[in-house]
Formats: sequence, structure tokens, C-alpha cells
Amino acid sequence: MPVTVNDTICAISTPPGIGGVAVLRISGANALEIASRLLDFGFRISDFAPNTAHFARIHNHGELVDEVILTFFHAPKSYTGEDVVEISCHGGRYAASRILQLVLDHGARTARPGEFTERAFLNGKLDLAQAEAVAELIHSRTDKAGRAAARQLAGGLSQKVSAMRARLLDLLALLELELDFSEEDVEFQKQSERLHTLRELQQEMRALVSTFARGRMVREGLRAAIVGAPNAGKSTLLNALAGEDRAIVSPEPGTTRDVVEAHIEVEGIELILQDTAGLREAAGMIESEGILRTRRAIENADVVLLVVDESDPHWPEENTVKDHTLLVWNKSDLPHAALASTLPRGGAMEFHISALTGDGVEALLHHIVSRATSDDLGSQEIIITEARHHNALSRAIASLERAEKQIAQPTLMASDLRDAVNALGEITGETVGEEILDRIFSKFCIGK
Ligand code: GDP
Repeated sequence: MPVTVNDTICAISTPPGIGGVAVLRISGANALEIASRLLDFGFRISDFAPNTAHFARIHNHGELVDEVILTFFHAPKSYTGEDVVEISCHGGRYAASRILQLVLDHGARTARPGEFTERAFLNGKLDLAQAEAVAELIHSRTDKAGRAAARQLAGGLSQKVSAMRARLLDLLALLELELDFSEEDVEFQKQSERLHTLRELQQEMRALVSTFARGRMVREGLRAAIVGAPNAGKSTLLNALAGEDRAIVSPEPGTTRDVVEAHIEVEGIELILQDTAGLREAAGMIESEGILRTRRAIENADVVLLVVDESDPHWPEENTVKDHTLLVWNKSDLPHAALASTLPRGGAMEFHISALTGDGVEALLHHIVSRATSDDLGSQEIIITEARHHNALSRAIASLERAEKQIAQPTLMASDLRDAVNALGEITGETVGEEILDRIFSKFCIGK
């Protein structure tokens, strides 16, 4: 659905700071005209052949502002699908902001966050899942997150979703034809065939939905809360895991009153380590607040590392062994206490480490991230990383489940199939409201 947008927008697309080059982007019908007005007299619009780059000087009332490279992308062969001029000027604070002001003075307006990509979407250069992948790619902090985003940008998810949607539309078309001829009692597709397709599609969607747990970890990182009795070695463990001195390590109990975080990259995954205040009842206000935060950290964690001193075991007062708890026996360099074997373990997986010497720490780290890295993300596997996609797919599955139950009632079934078609269309953007679009594009940064 090509749209005509009249105004021409401009923004600096590179981040602020000192650097060799900064890039300004101008997009819209007047992009070329505005750019040509900034240049010295030697240049005319006709000098710009489509898809070419030119060395040029930008002047303001005869004063040189900067020497630049100007690249002209003729519509529709540009990022936005409109005429685009990109001006590569010198980096730093001065040149780009001066040129931006000149471009605005000549009639462009400042682009909203994500507006270039929004125009690309509206002009059919990208579908919605691909547009979201652009934002993901920019915000990726780790190798695996970047790869997953790049694959989504390449259209992997879009193709898969579109193929499923096309099969559903075929099913729906035959069903609707049958409804049109209902008086004559003709059957365009056998019920068994219909059922087979429905089930196959559900299976395919479920497989995709099941990748979300891992996809979310790849995208947002994996949260590990470190809990245990005072002096168990939580802060020491955080330091050993992070390889940096971030948390306070002290022989006095209760020194870590807050939740201290360290973000590290392990095997391409972001690991967010949280050292907590410990789970004992505390007298002081600060520690009570710390305990509240500890509980919250445990609730939000993907994995809880319950640290127990093997030489002097104390179980935290609140039992925290849950599905996602790893029992970490610390201080393996010291003699074990006999008591160690009598503590309750709740079936948690156990590790023996010395946070002080680093013994066993690598194996523990590897185990923690293995949940997110178990499948090879270097392959072409499609995973979903966005809650929005998970939600749409789940609704599509629910509609197909209903459709299956209504197989003997074509009118009801057709309505369920339509719901599923629409839910899938939300992922690629065929069926999505303005409000959702706004929400998606406002998450972008300016200049993208
Ligand atoms: P927290 O209160 O659970 O955060 O415990 P800390 O990390 O502050 O450690 C308490 C004390 O135990 C400190 O003196 C640490 O040096 C010591 N400690 C921590 N881990 C080990 C370990 O693996 N071996 C030995 N021998 N001492 C440790």
C-alpha cells in the first residue's frame, strides 16, 4: 500500500559523540531540492544521477560549513521507498548539527523516532516483523541476539508466517465457496483433509511458539539471582562469575544490602547476575527492603543460584528451592562439614565450586546459559523473540483449536479461521491498527 507523504523529514542517523563521520538522512519528495540548496553554486539537481555519491561543499551565506559526501537514492530504490539523500559529514558536535539546522531551515522537519523505518514499512519496503528486527538489531548487545535479529530482518519469520497464513486463506476460500453453494450440498474439500491441514498448521505454530522462551533469553538476557545465607560467598561468587570487582566482598555478614547487578556475555548470551541481600529476617530497615528486593529478584529470575557454604552450611531461612534453582555448594577449597549431606535439597541440580579459587565456576556458568544456547542458533532456525509475536501466534492457535471443534459447522469454522488469519497478519503487519504501529515505531531511536 504505497502512501504519499508530503513532508520531507530529516535527522542525524549516527549517535552523538566524537567520530570520523556523522550521517544525516533526508527523506521525502523535496529531499534532493533541499540538499541542492545547501551546496555551492557548481551543483544543480540535474547533476545528481540516481543512486550516486558526490563530493560537495555545504555553505551558509558564503561560509563553508563542511566538506561532505552526498549520496542520492532515487525513489523507490531507497530505505524508505522515497527520495533519500544521505549526507556524510565530519563527526563530532559541530558539523552535523549545523547541517541539520540548515536542512530544517530549508523546509524539512525533524523526523520522529523510527519514522524512516515507518515510511519504509508503509511503502512496502519491509514488513512489520522486519521493521521490528531493525530495532532489535540496533539494540542487540550480544552475538546471539544480533544473529536472531538479522535472521528476522532477512525475512525468515515473515516467510514462515506468510506461508502459514496463505494455507489458512486457501482453506478459508474453499470453505466460503462451500457456504455459497450450501443449498446445493456440494463439498469442495473433504472434512478429513481440512482437519489434516488444521492440525498441521497448529503443530507448526506450536513449534514456533515454543521457541519463545529461548528467544526471550536471547533477546533480553538471562537473569540469575544469587541467594543464600550471609557469608555463604554470594558476593565472591558474583565477582568470580563477572570477573570484575563489582560487589562488596567482606567477612562481616549482611554487607550486601542492595541487589547488585553485573551484566556479562557468556557464549553469546547476556547473563544478568544479581547478588541479593540474603533471605534472613533482618532487624534494620535497609535489610528488610533488601529482603523484599531479593524476593522480587527470585521471582523475576530465570535461574536462582542458591549458595551454601560447604564448610559451614546454613540454609537460608526461607526455602527457595524451586524448578529453576541450582544448588551451589561453595568453598570447596575448605574441609567439608559433616552436616552438608543432611540439608534439604528439593531435587535441585548441585554444583561444587570455590568462588575464591574459581574452581568449578566455568562449568557453572556454562550450565546456566546452556538453557538458552542448547540449540545451535548459528543455523537457519527461526525463533521468535518478541512478546507481540508470541501473543499473536497463541491467539491463532486458539482460533484453530476452536475451528477444529466446529468442523461440522462451516459458518462458525470460517469465522475462527478468519480470526487466525488476522492474528497471523498482525505479525507481518497486514492486519494491524495504527495504535500498534505507533507503539512499535516509537521504540526506535531518532534517525532510524
Ligand atoms: P556473602 O555474604 O554471601 O555475600 O559472602 P561473601 O562473598 O562476602 O563471602 C564471605 C566470606 O567468605 C569472605 O571472607 C570470602 O572471602 C569468603 N569466601 C567466599 N567464597 C569462598 C570460597 O570459595 N572459599 C573460601 N575459603 N572462602 C570464601
